[in-house]
Amino acid sequence: RVTGFPSGAKTIEWAVSEFRATGIADVELQQFDQNEGASIWLPLSWEVRLLGDPAFGEESTDVVLESAMPLSAGDLSGSSLTAPLVYVGTATSTELARIDVRGKVAIQKAIPQGHTVFMRSPVGPRAQDLLDRGAVAVLTIIDLPGNMRARDIGCGGGTCFNIGGRDGRFIESVMDAASAAGTTADIRVEMRLESERFSGLSAANGVAIIPGTSRSDEYIVLNAHADAWFDGAGDNGDGLAVLIALARHFATLGMRQERSIVFVASAGHHSSGLSGPGNFVAMNPEIAEGAVLVVNLEHTAQRNIAPARSLHEDGYREWTMDSHEAPIVAGITNLAPYLEGLVERGIERYGTNFVSGPNTMASGEGGTYRRLGVPVFTTMQGPPMYHTTGEVLEMVSTPGMERMARFMAFFVKEVSGASVAQLNPR
Ligand SMILES: [Zn+2]
Repeated sequence: RVTGFPSGAKTIEWAVSEFRATGIADVELQQFDQNEGASIWLPLSWEVRLLGDPAFGEESTDVVLESAMPLSAGDLSGSSLTAPLVYVGTATSTELARIDVRGKVAIQKAIPQGHTVFMRSPVGPRAQDLLDRGAVAVLTIIDLPGNMRARDIGCGGGTCFNIGGRDGRFIESVMDAASAAGTTADIRVEMRLESERFSGLSAANGVAIIPGTSRSDEYIVLNAHADAWFDGAGDNGDGLAVLIALARHFATLGMRQERSIVFVASAGHHSSGLSGPGNFVAMNPEIAEGAVLVVNLEHTAQRNIAPARSLHEDGYREWTMDSHEAPIVAGITNLAPYLEGLVERGIERYGTNFVSGPNTMASGEGGTYRRLGVPVFTTMQGPPMYHTTGEVLEMVSTPGMERMARFMAFFVKEVSGASVAQLNPR
């Protein structure tokens, strides 16, 4: 569901039809164009292949690493590269000083603990360090259960691919076996990639408005981004589902609130130059002017994966899917005591899995809404399958979505009756 492409457009159209089905009269599909000069890089086809070699035995054959995921074009676009592998794992720069990576493809390892996103800061710079030391490319093993493709953790535009947990385990065992056998031949890898930059695209937000009963020129904006990498069940299918549920709830007879409620199925923030929130704010000056609070429903109810405690016979890690949802960070940009108190009350009532103390986090969509100068309340998860092909429907906790929808319905009703001074104390 990449914004700017047919799958992204279809998702917004779906959200708009869901808004209409609630009976809300004021529903719009608001189209906009990609910013001048902006472009989206997308890989189109690629392959990472370990090359068989008689030096490893007569039956040695090529093995394609199906989980390989390119992160940038590097020097590879439209061409291929063959080089020997060198394993660096989680080496520090002191250790790297003793490993010669020049002219080789370096394999590093990332072991996500809780959030894949937390691996960006140690792993991305190490990839760049490896390229600076002369590596021709970097393969990063994302040591997750399964064999997921992961579209996260870049290497500053160099030639690099992520490799899934099971393929990573395979590379390690092949290299270990070769070294145990005293093989002096290099294990070589061949990589190819075709990619393209896309510009001149267009996208849309789906917007529905339920007018307030008394203060209709004051708006509570509820936002969920509809775009995603891969299936995106948790980022952000669950958030979008909660948004639709809230639209249904507030569209029911007798549920109109004092203030107007705006539902935004946003084009999102993953496609460069096609910002959903940015264009929503620019295209709806009345709402931007009259907004009193923004709720950003982002990653609301993904289940968790318990850390591996045992190994399969072949050395592969076992894993367990939690029945409960992963920890959720909840940020309120202005730390208003009234809103913090509401969150506390909501957690007591509905059991949402918020684990954070008071903080001003508004990443993802939330950041762009800061420009309105009103409190932005963001829910955010980044569980293990974040930005991977493992983020499928089964990863979403249905009770978790229900808890979040009930929590948010309560939160919005309370906010609708609160004074501006309570929401945004100066
Ligand atoms: Zn997201």
